[in-house]
Amino acid sequence: MAHNDKILIAGAGGFIGGALVALLRKQGHRNLRAVDVKPFEEWYQRFDDAENLSLDLNLKENCDAAAEGAVEIYNLAANMGGMGFIEHNKALCMLSVLINTHLLQAALKHGAAKRFFYASSACVYNADKQKTFEAPSLKEEDAYPAQAEDGYGWEKLFSERMCRHFREDYGLTTRVARFHNVYGPWGTWFGGREKAPAAICRKVIEAKVAGKHEIEIWGSGNQTRSFMFIDDCTEGIQKITNSEILGPINLGSSEAVTINQLVDIAENIAGIKLKRNYDLSAPKGVNGRNSDNTLIQKYLHWEPSTSLRSGLEKTYRWIFDQYMARERGEAGVIRESHLAQ
Ligand code: NAD
Repeated sequence: MAHNDKILIAGAGGFIGGALVALLRKQGHRNLRAVDVKPFEEWYQRFDDAENLSLDLNLKENCDAAAEGAVEIYNLAANMGGMGFIEHNKALCMLSVLINTHLLQAALKHGAAKRFFYASSACVYNADKQKTFEAPSLKEEDAYPAQAEDGYGWEKLFSERMCRHFREDYGLTTRVARFHNVYGPWGTWFGGREKAPAAICRKVIEAKVAGKHEIEIWGSGNQTRSFMFIDDCTEGIQKITNSEILGPINLGSSEAVTINQLVDIAENIAGIKLKRNYDLSAPKGVNGRNSDNTLIQKYLHWEPSTSLRSGLEKTYRWIFDQYMARERGEAGVIRESHLAQ
């Protein structure tokens, strides 16, 4: 991949897309096309030396314009959020199928794309295999027989297969990773779309700042998950895109923790102890899930390795700074683009 080849990052105004643009820039790539439906002031990261476009990629003509000349295409654009969001916005989540469908068609039409990456999710896994709290390690084959997370997970599973058939029938080199909960700085931390690590950091910060040492936890706190730090995620995306791995592959940490343990770590970072109130009626997702990394180890001799403690510390500090800026009324700082230095 030459440094002046055009690379399209769809969803670049979001958490993972923004981090990928930042990484590509750091590696010396200078022909980056960053696209997101959000207005520029809402992008988490934006670099003025990239070609930044605010386009709705649900629309075919916008995907055509975005993909033109792109040698690599990363599709990280989707309507998504934590459990609270995906449980209440199933139709909206399924409509993301338009983005991937139109981007695949546009990639074929222009013929320049050598690699097409699609961001899938651990939400494609069969719900029956995630009933215990013992964090079952999910292998790639566990997505079938299909019983994905309603709405969001079904769209991901369908789009994975669409990528497969574009590869098999039309020869487009598609690569698919199933992300397991990604967290880190420059991500959603308030507003309803935030996921557990950011939500818990924010709640701990709120409790600390207000001096009200209580926290509300969704579910019993015994649900198990693994959490992948953003730097591992972007590194994995590149490794998988450039690999010869044909089928969807897990990209996640295999360090499983309960939500209670996640709270323990956040409390430890903050230096406080909180009274825990469990909201058993809140959306909580499946009981247990971990990433089985046998396959990624086999192909890449690599897996995400940032410890939850060190990744969460960086995330906590970043959210703390954002929170304090907001408290001071510096609204612009919360989502301020950090422009190319
Ligand atoms: P995000 O919400 O921060 O970013 C997604 C971006 O896509 C947003 O900026 C949004 O504005 C953009 N988008 C939505 N609809 C669009 C449209 N019609 N046209 C153009 N842009 C549009 O989410 P993220 O965490 O960065 O997730 C990136 C990808 O990874 C998504 O496909 C998501 O489903 C997948 N994923 C993320 C996680 C995670 O833990 N963050 C886990 C599994 C899968």
